[in-house]
Amino acid sequence: MLAVYASAAGGDDPLANLAVGDLAAPVARPGWARVRVRVASLNHHDIWTLRGVSSTPVIPPQILGCDAAGEVDNYGEEPPAGAPAVGARVVVYPIVTCGQCVACLADDPTACRSFRMLSEAPLGGAFAEYVEIPVANLIELPDQVSYADAACLPTAYLTAYRALFVRAGLRPGMSVLVQGAGGGVATACILLGRLAGVTVYATSRDEAKRSFAVDLGAEAAFPVERQTARAVVGATGGIGVDAVVDTVGEPTWDLSLRAVRPGGVVVVPGSTGGPNPSAQLNRIFFRSLTVAGTTMGTLGELRRLVDLTATGALRPLIGSTHALRDAEAAFAEMARGDVRGKIVLEV
Ligand SMILES: [Zn+2]
Repeated sequence: MLAVYASAAGGDDPLANLAVGDLAAPVARPGWARVRVRVASLNHHDIWTLRGVSSTPVIPPQILGCDAAGEVDNYGEEPPAGAPAVGARVVVYPIVTCGQCVACLADDPTACRSFRMLSEAPLGGAFAEYVEIPVANLIELPDQVSYADAACLPTAYLTAYRALFVRAGLRPGMSVLVQGAGGGVATACILLGRLAGVTVYATSRDEAKRSFAVDLGAEAAFPVERQTARAVVGATGGIGVDAVVDTVGEPTWDLSLRAVRPGGVVVVPGSTGGPNPSAQLNRIFFRSLTVAGTTMGTLGELRRLVDLTATGALRPLIGSTHALRDAEAAFAEMARGDVRGKIVLEV
């Protein structure tokens, strides 16, 4: 089958490790299903894998991709009652856990010690004609949800959903600052925050991305500079935002700590701009701030996102679409940071 994979990992040029070619199709084992992928979407996770940064060692050839939507192709054994029929349209929940530990039983899959995402060994990835996944990870798609929209949800929108409504505890009427407008998670935060009646502010170094953020529904968008903290505090009645979602890291951390209100939350779902800012612990304890890391979300939260998309209220923003065999162009776009919304691959 045609697949997009890491032929090596590490080195100075992650994109040099990217390969497109034929690999053996997976065969569904008992308890698992094989899905015929129709649309997949890119995440920074895929570039980290090419860099060799992964929760498990990258063993080439490793098929890339966490996000897939398509049709159930077959099952490894007679599926349990209630499983989608062969041929049913589905989106894939990309997290595989042990299902038995205390974290799994408490519906906190990201805390499971055997947590793996699609494209992390020994799992295959979504950028291929077929992907194998546990039956319990299949979510049937309502007719109103397209494959392309569904393929945006499992990583970026799920991460944003959990960051905003679980980790930051945002409610209607509250406010959030979204750092680094343009990327998949940041775009999802702006759209989901607005839908929930949260006032959203955004930042970007790029003026075009700032106006893009306002077009998406941000109340205002600011450059990444020190005076922006004062502007955000001023815009929130002299208090500061209730929460910040900072996927950037080093370039934005100081601003995150200054723009959030005393007692507020800074949620960290990524660090695309570098992982080691000056911590400023003085600011954190004196202003009673919470720093909350977050990764992905639960199967139930992904189901809610599918339902929300089916109502028509949420339309995931797709920045560009490529054929699977043109994945190199898609990866180059993501590596340049030249992204507005999600980059999708049609299989
Ligand atoms: Zn577990």
